[in-house]
Amino acid sequence: MKLTSYWLDTATPAGDFRRSELPKRVDVAVVGAGLTGLSTALHLARDGASVALLEARTVGWGASGRNGGMATTGLAVGYGTAARRYGRPRAAAMFAAYNDAIDTVEKLVADEGIDCNFERVGKLTLAAKTSHYEGFGRTAEMLAEDVGQELMLVPASELRKEIGSDFYRGGMVDPLGAGVHVGKLVAGLARAGSRAGVSIHEACEVYELRRLNGRRYDVLTSRGTIRADRVVVGTSGYSGRMLPWLQRRLVPIGSFVLVTEPLADEVVDGLLPQRRVAADTNRVCLYFRLTPDKRLLFGGRARFSASDRDADLTSGRILHRQLLQVFPQLTNTRIDYCWGGLVDMSLDQMVHAGERDGVLYSVGYSGHGVQMATHMGKVMAQMANGVGSANPWRDLRFPPVPGYFGTPWFLPPAGVLFKFLDRVS
Ligand SMILES: Cc1cc2nc3c(=O)[nH]c(=O)nc-3n(C[C@H](O)[C@H](O)[C@H](O)COP(=O)(O)OP(=O)(O)OC[C@H]3O[C@@H](n4cnc5c(N)ncnc54)[C@H](O)[C@@H]3O)c2cc1C
Repeated sequence: MKLTSYWLDTATPAGDFRRSELPKRVDVAVVGAGLTGLSTALHLARDGASVALLEARTVGWGASGRNGGMATTGLAVGYGTAARRYGRPRAAAMFAAYNDAIDTVEKLVADEGIDCNFERVGKLTLAAKTSHYEGFGRTAEMLAEDVGQELMLVPASELRKEIGSDFYRGGMVDPLGAGVHVGKLVAGLARAGSRAGVSIHEACEVYELRRLNGRRYDVLTSRGTIRADRVVVGTSGYSGRMLPWLQRRLVPIGSFVLVTEPLADEVVDGLLPQRRVAADTNRVCLYFRLTPDKRLLFGGRARFSASDRDADLTSGRILHRQLLQVFPQLTNTRIDYCWGGLVDMSLDQMVHAGERDGVLYSVGYSGHGVQMATHMGKVMAQMANGVGSANPWRDLRFPPVPGYFGTPWFLPPAGVLFKFLDRVS
């Protein structure tokens, strides 16, 4: 079993940028080469800016190369919750932004000719409880009214058409959801960025942003200093001490993934006959899909923890038990990959994107960033250019997480609490 991301293992990197020469001055320095940073850099370079993309590790090394590859509709919180919090018109605009975000991925992939298995297979949400399925009906009605979104309800009696399992109590399908090979997507965006003139620098950790005046900064990195007229930060769940105020607002939570060996066609047909990307309704949720080469990818939070080699293995064992609860027919199936990554959870589980001290940032995707991080790259580029942009996250309050200063000591008890709530609620 490989302890590495299947996506990165099965994609060809755009290049080796570990020794690329660092420019002295740029119009924009972008920190972090995940989907946020790659997309921001590409959009800016297309508009003629000189751009340095600075990545502490390698392109796509963070959550962008480790996720489930599901570019789905919907916010990280349920639509009903968003409507109660922000009112229905604003919640509808936020929901619609996720639809726009999938369109952005689709368009970028087409415009840049990125071969990354982007496919609108539809998103299948699975009710862990009968009461959750009842909630689907209300959600579908509200979304049809507010956004014109057509969702399809699948009662438990018909669920076998969608999933080869009796584990769930019903489903809801949104046909706009897509699957994508994120390893190929990040590599393709890096290639497109290089073509457009972005200078990419790997093994280049930014340890300080030293403000000169207004929005101009000296960007101090492990490979030298760059002067930049603008700085954009897309460091997500890997935001460290570079910007302490940002770190205090994002809790990095491990999410873990297993990928099986390639499966025979008849097994695949029996698991997810419609080939949808799927997630369940639990707080400690499970998500799964098929890979382009017909493996089952199965992910979840497993046990709220950080991600490192040992944590990934322990979480992988928990996930494997859960996989067999959902799909007992895979008892004798080999697991080929196991890895983990960090999700950037904001207190309200909403995206936060704006400007502070002259630095632009887009973070807080809370596990729903494949589409939104890519989309926000476009928005960040517009904001850096001073062009008006549709950014529904701009005015949201972005408070620090109480009691959090960089060590998420509260994760294990929070995990126990959420599992308990999943059982009793
Ligand atoms: C296991 C897992 C499964 C997921 N599944 C899904 C899914 O199916 N669908 C979905 O929509 N979302 C999913 N997500 C969330 C999604 O992957 C993220 O929201 C998205 O990739 C965030 O992209 P990003 O570019 O903002 O951050 P990242 O991809 O995390 O990139 C941040 C980068 O910044 C770099 N960095 C940090 N600090 C510095 C510094 N000081 N100097 C230089 N570089 C720095 C890091 O090395 C990292 O590469 C998942 C996440 C995980 C971890």
